[in-house]
Amino acid sequence: MQCPRHNIEFETDKRHGVPALECPQCTGIWIETAALEQIEDRVFPGEMRKGSLKYGNHDSDLSCPHCSKTMVRFRYRANNLELDHCPDDAGYWLDKDEDKQILDLMKQRVSDLNRSGAAQVSWDRAVRGESHGILSRIKRIFK
Ligand SMILES: [Zn+2]
Ligand SMILES: [Zn+2]
Repeated sequence: MQCPRHNIEFETDKRHGVPALECPQCTGIWIETAALEQIEDRVFPGEMRKGSLKYGNHDSDLSCPHCSKTMVRFRYRANNLELDHCPDDAGYWLDKDEDKQILDLMKQRVSDLNRSGAAQVSWDRAVRGESHGILSRIKRIFK
């Protein structure tokens, strides 16, 4: 297979623990569809929700290195990052550093979720503490 930008044969490589085909000129990579989640899962705990993957699908300028059809470009998990996907779901094309951006965005989502989770816990605690306070006050009145 060849790079969709340079028509140069890919070289076999490995990124973030998954097999990837890399263009020696632009260092963009082609990964299989399942590999995208495997990359995300390196920083994203399984019990958290990732949200929807694809937003704003539109035709890409690039042809799929796998099937030569026009790829589908989409906004990755509603972030400010666009990725190219094979219309037959064979894999994703990631331009240089887009794999790193994916990891950064996923780390960001984990810390956002942790923060909203922590806020929920302290709110629950405050509510429980409040009702407990009222209860002991009522008990004191009836003593
Ligand atoms: Zn290239
Ligand atoms: Zn394809």
